[in-house]
Amino acid sequence: MSDQPRVEIYTKEDCPYCEKAKDLFDSKGIEYEEYNVTGDDDRFEEMVERANGRKTAPEVFIDDELIGGWDDTSALNETGELDEKLGIADDSDDEIVEHRKLIIAGTGIAGLTAAIYAGRANNEPLVIEGDEPGGQLTLTTDVANYPGFPEGIGGPELVNNMKEQAKQFGADLKNGIIESVDDSQRPFRVELTNGDVYTADAVIAASGASARTLDIPGEDELMGYGLSTCATCDGAFFRGEDMLVVGGGDAAMEEATFLTKFADTVYIAHRREEFRAEDYWVDRVQEKVEEGEIEIMKNTELIEVHGSQEEGVDYVTLVENEKGHPTDRLDDPETNEFEFDVGAVFLAIGHTPNTEYLEDTGVEMDDEGYLETQGGDGGGQTETAVPGIFGAGDVVDYHYQQAVTAAGMGSKAALDADEYLEDLERADSSAEEAEPAAADD
Ligand SMILES: Cc1cc2nc3c(=O)[nH]c(=O)nc-3n(C[C@H](O)[C@H](O)[C@H](O)COP(=O)(O)OP(=O)(O)OC[C@H]3O[C@@H](n4cnc5c(N)ncnc54)[C@H](O)[C@@H]3O)c2cc1C
Repeated sequence: MSDQPRVEIYTKEDCPYCEKAKDLFDSKGIEYEEYNVTGDDDRFEEMVERANGRKTAPEVFIDDELIGGWDDTSALNETGELDEKLGIADDSDDEIVEHRKLIIAGTGIAGLTAAIYAGRANNEPLVIEGDEPGGQLTLTTDVANYPGFPEGIGGPELVNNMKEQAKQFGADLKNGIIESVDDSQRPFRVELTNGDVYTADAVIAASGASARTLDIPGEDELMGYGLSTCATCDGAFFRGEDMLVVGGGDAAMEEATFLTKFADTVYIAHRREEFRAEDYWVDRVQEKVEEGEIEIMKNTELIEVHGSQEEGVDYVTLVENEKGHPTDRLDDPETNEFEFDVGAVFLAIGHTPNTEYLEDTGVEMDDEGYLETQGGDGGGQTETAVPGIFGAGDVVDYHYQQAVTAAGMGSKAALDADEYLEDLERADSSAEEAEPAAADD
């Protein structure tokens, strides 16, 4: 082993964030010791003790110092502090690292599909991973609707296959988060949060969307201590408990169904009467309701989570009003506020598009921050308002938000970018040819 610090990662089975943590250290060439706590009570107790009572995996340690879970590790990575702790920080003062024809923001399904197409078109894309390498699909262990896999496929496996495919065609994947894109100059100036700067002739924004939280009392304190945004990651830690899932879309239905493997009873709190989820998921939840494993609380919202970091979630406060959206009707005498005992809470209330790095550009966004692209028929559907910046996947598409639609848009963005880059090259070579003639005058 080299003189790198000692890195230890506590993991468990079926834990997408554990895979992400391992991928992050792998991508940096850092060796680590992995302790799988699944079915190993001693290791689990050891992890909980070393992690100051946290019962979520992964838990990362560097030279015995608690770094924390995936969120903590990735936040440190974002600022460059993780590299400093690992002794691999780049101390060079050179600002511009490299010029690339094409930079792709994101290694979700959209970014990786764009990378495959762009690689095949010889545009040698640099793909920046962001704070969620592999994107949202790495949070699910079962993708049953991606064409070509009749038995289904795990999200991380599908993403890793795509990464391999993209690399085979010449894409470079880089750990890092884009802080800003400067479109006042050409080539574009693309700065990462660790200070690295690239220039690029074209950019594809495939930066997806991130899980939303509720901003309610108890949320910050208990996130990771019984409150979670990822059932597949943390559900197994609360075996035998009553669990609450908040939300009414596909993710909420999928998470609730998954949690029945561990929970005594799963409760779904949804603020309206009707679910937004596909009929497929509503039917599966209904089957579980009939089997007594899920109970649905319609027109109900979560307003507070109670508990402690030592003991986890104790109970929650809910409000209910049969007219729906009860938090908008707190003064209505028919709004009923009540306490409810659960041992774990999972938020599945949708996503916010990741577009902060484009805020100072001319790229247009809707009220929620989703990128506006040309759309319609024919070429150029993924063009944004800034020539040379293209958008693809969930960061554009607030409606379909599926892996296969994200892949489709990723391929379109790479094809649009290729056409743009070819036009740029043609324009550059005509300008070069014209130059000597001008000098002869
Ligand atoms: C639990 C769960 C289960 C799902 N199951 C299914 C399913 O079974 N079938 C299905 O079709 N769909 C499923 N989906 C939806 C599917 O995962 C998404 O539609 C798809 O992942 C969108 O891909 P994307 O590439 O657009 O964005 P994302 O997957 O969100 O990827 C975005 C990428 O951008 C990166 N990024 C963000 N900000 C920056 C930045 N500033 N700089 C650089 N990079 C950045 C992120 O790190 C990430 O790599 C599921 C979603 C969830 C949450």
